[in-house]
This record gives sequence, structure tokens and C-alpha cells, in this order.
Amino acid sequence: MQYHIWTVGCQMNVADSKKLASGLDKLGWSEVGEPEGADLVVLNTCSIRDHAEQRAVSKLGALKKLRGKGSDFKIAVMGCMVGPRTDDLQKRFPYVDAFAQPQNFDPIMEAIGYDEMGGEFWPSMFVRAESPTAYVPIVHGCDKFCTYCIVPYRRGRERSRAVDEIYEEVAHLAATGVREVTLLGQTVEAYGHDLDEQPDLGDLLRELHDIDGIARFRFLTSYPKDMTERIIDAVAELPKVCEYFNIPVQSGDNGVLERMARGYTIELYREKVDLIRSKMPDAAITTDLIVGFCGETDQEFQHSYELLEELQFDKVHVAAYSDRPGTIAHRKLEDDIPHETKMARLHRIEQLEAGISARINSGYLAREVEVLVEGTKPRPDGAEQLYGRNRQNKLVHFAGAAAPGDLVTVCIENTSPWSLVGAAVGAAEAAATR
Ligand code: SAM
Ligand code: SF4
Repeated sequence: MQYHIWTVGCQMNVADSKKLASGLDKLGWSEVGEPEGADLVVLNTCSIRDHAEQRAVSKLGALKKLRGKGSDFKIAVMGCMVGPRTDDLQKRFPYVDAFAQPQNFDPIMEAIGYDEMGGEFWPSMFVRAESPTAYVPIVHGCDKFCTYCIVPYRRGRERSRAVDEIYEEVAHLAATGVREVTLLGQTVEAYGHDLDEQPDLGDLLRELHDIDGIARFRFLTSYPKDMTERIIDAVAELPKVCEYFNIPVQSGDNGVLERMARGYTIELYREKVDLIRSKMPDAAITTDLIVGFCGETDQEFQHSYELLEELQFDKVHVAAYSDRPGTIAHRKLEDDIPHETKMARLHRIEQLEAGISARINSGYLAREVEVLVEGTKPRPDGAEQLYGRNRQNKLVHFAGAAAPGDLVTVCIENTSPWSLVGAAVGAAEAAATR
């Protein structure tokens, strides 16, 4: 039997899809790259913005057509489009065989005839390693309820995985060739508060650090209020933990942050960034920003613009606010910023950030960086070129001889806002040191 999984959205979705694939593999199914010919097609969906949801809706339309042509296969929808109640979805898409909330694969398994999976089947399922890098979710769900965000309604309350379970999974990944592990959580520093011993992210990193074969750890996504000095110190002290942070700020204006119910002020955010930079001057810090949130005035937007100028992030993921039915903002605030204004603000941020990223990246010129090789990609002239990421998570294309999983020292010869280009000057030490 064959299955096909289509995935959009965040790293959590990528991790969920891999877990489902590993379970199906274990049952003797094999994965195919296209829906044609598959016995099961799974759409792993994202609802964070309307546009993401529309992509899944048009995929569903295409699958319905494929079925109309006589193909006989089951269709499952999982991920953030699926809430606790599915009656609306069932009405809209009556031809879908299973709707599965994130992390709950049972409806999919039932649709293909596996009713009794046993309570230990999924928790003990290790994902197969396909590349030298892997994602490992450590805390599921989110308790923050930012007013614009649909995630807590779809992924449920925060649930941390036990340290032992995570340790076993990372050790398994290491044994199958993985060299870099990114620990995932919507607010990853919330890890552990719901466990008996209350370990924090720093404790977990210290536990995992001795696993042979893993050269690097990263973690995503940081929540400013939950970042403690203890966690930042663990990152600074542990050689394998990369000095890379994604800390969404969402707005540079305290009034907007309050309307978003983000639970911190710009002053607190700035303190966290300063603390990281004082302990790790080489750290890369990226952020997420929403423009055109309900009632965002020109001046409030200007505060976001100025904050980016001031804090000089390595990268900014900027999004135009998208009203999501079911959220607090949808119920209580007005989505009153015209589309054109949102797009104009978005472009201004993109332009500003391209200049900042270009400046930061040009600082790598003639410097040697450690790159974990991920594979090869064709250059514009057709020749194959190696690529990987440095500790600061910057994409590096380079000339040399190496295999995926190798740590290589690369001298940077060229830079752009989006990547670095260089040549290998030698093999790096087996486990990262700095
Ligand atoms: N938990 C993280 C945090 O605290 O920011 C990120 C979660 S969310 C999956 C990823 C990004 O999507 C957010 O950082 C935010 O910028 C964006 N996002 C979430 N809801 C949005 C909305 N309604 N409209 C536009 N962007 C949104
Ligand atoms: Fe959404 Fe806020 Fe939770 Fe991030 S912290 S997932 S933005 S509710």
C-alpha cells in the first residue's frame, strides 16, 4: 500500500508529517511523491493565515477531481485546519475520509483499517532520519492565547514531553546519522513547567548534550517573557548549542502588543536581546513581525520600523495581519487596516530588512565559519555546489569536497542578504567547539 503526504506550515507540521510517515512505514506502507497511485493522501494543513488555508482548500479540490476520474484512495486532512469539532469541515468537504487534529493520528489510521494501534504505538515511534538535520518537538500546544492567533485552539494546551522520551528519540536520530537537532515548541522556553521535576529548557539541553554523534542543537520558537537568564546561560555555556535565536516581537509598539495580549513590553524585549548579545556577541537573532494588526496607526507601525532599525535582526519574518475566525481579535477587534496599507507596510519592512541583512552578512566576508553540510544544489550555471548552514543558521553555498553530515570550515568570499558563498578550507572538528 502507498501513501502521499502534502505538508505546509511550520516546523511542527514537518515533524508531525515525519512521525505519521514513520508509523505508516512501520506498518509496511511506502511513500510516494505524488497523489496519483497512492492509497492514502494526507494533507497536513496550516491555518495561521487565510492564504495558507486556501492552499489546502484548492488541494482538496484537485483531489476530489482525481477521485472523480476513477482513482480510489482515502483522503485525510490533519493539522491546524482541524479543530476539536469537525462538523463544519465535514459539511464543506464530505468526500474527506478522516479529519485529524495535530498529534492525533487515530482518525487517519481508522480510515485505513487500523482501529487498534495500542497506546504505545505513537509515543514510541521514532522518525526516520532523511537528512543530517532533524526536528524534535519537546512541547506541544500553546497556552498564550495571543489575540490574533489560532494555534492554541487547534493545537491545544501546553504538554511537555518527558526528558527520557526526548533523550531516547535524539539518541535514536544520532544512531541513524543525524548531526543537528532542532528542539521545537510554540513557546519553547515553556518546556517543563508541567512536568513533575519541572526541568527547564536549559536542563534539557544539558541532558541531551552528551549524546554522541550530535554536533549541534538549536531550538525554536522563543517567547520573550519566558526566556530566563538560566536558559540563556545554558546556550552560552554548552558548545554544541548554536548561538541562534528566533524571538518573535510581533510589534514595536506597546499599545499594539497590549491589543495582541503578548504579555510583554518593548522594554522587556530589548532587555532580553541585550542580555543575549552581552553573553554571545556573535549570536544571530531573528524575529517575526505582524503589520496591519487591528487599529495599527501610522505611528504604531513607525515604532515597529524603528525597533527593527535599532535592534538589527539577522532576519525578519514579516506577515500582513490575517483575521482568523475563532480568535479573540476576530471577536473583539476590527480588522480595519486596508489591504493596500498592510501590503505597503509589509514592503517597507522587507526593504529595510534586506539592507540590514546585507550589512550583517557582509560582516562574514573573509571570515571562516563552521558549516554542517546538508547536500548539493545546482548553481545557475548548472554545476553542483555544496550547501549547509553555519552556527548562526545562515545558508552557505561553497566549493569543496564533503558529504552530507560533515562539519567543514568554509572561508566566506561573497555575501548577499539571503546567503553566504565561499570555499572549504578544511574539515572542522568532529563536535563543534568555539
Ligand atoms: N509561537 C510563536 C510566537 O510566539 O510568535 C509563533 C507562532 S506562529 C505559528 C508563527 C507566526 O505566524 C507568528 O510569529 C506570527 O508572526 C504569524 N501569525 C500568527 N497569527 C497570524 C495572523 N492572524 N496573521 C498574520 N500572521 C500571523
Ligand atoms: Fe500563537 Fe501566541 Fe501561542 Fe505563538 S505564543 S503560538 S503567537 S498564541
